[in-house]
Amino acid sequence: MKAESLIEKAIEARKLSYSPYSKIAIGAALLCKDGQVFMGANIENVSHSLSMCAERSALYSALMHGYKKADFVALAITADTQEACTPCGACRQVFSELFPKEGDIYMANLTGKVFKSTIGELLPFAFSKEGLKS
Ligand code: ZN
Repeated sequence: MKAESLIEKAIEARKLSYSPYSKIAIGAALLCKDGQVFMGANIENVSHSLSMCAERSALYSALMHGYKKADFVALAITADTQEACTPCGACRQVFSELFPKEGDIYMANLTGKVFKSTIGELLPFAFSKEGLKS
């Protein structure tokens, strides 16, 4: 699947956003090696810390369907923002553990801006289980 198609899926996922507080609908699409795509959208709560980001909802959905880190190929995130929509720090931490270090991450907006990176680049020196060993 081409990056543009994955970004289109992320744009489609924005329709499922529940974002009455930020009013920013964010969509994500996670591509697996077998071609399966899991979509996610941000789901907010009046108690803001309980809100869930689009990319984590896509990732957790894939995990709940039996997919594992090695199955993931690429992720696209998009929102109606001025710049390409980038993942928050919490998502970067989660993806550093559950998404391949060299997997493609496409951050986009609705005007066609796209920035491609990897979780290794987005979160260098991530907190990891190796760091917990004494
Ligand atoms: Zn996030």
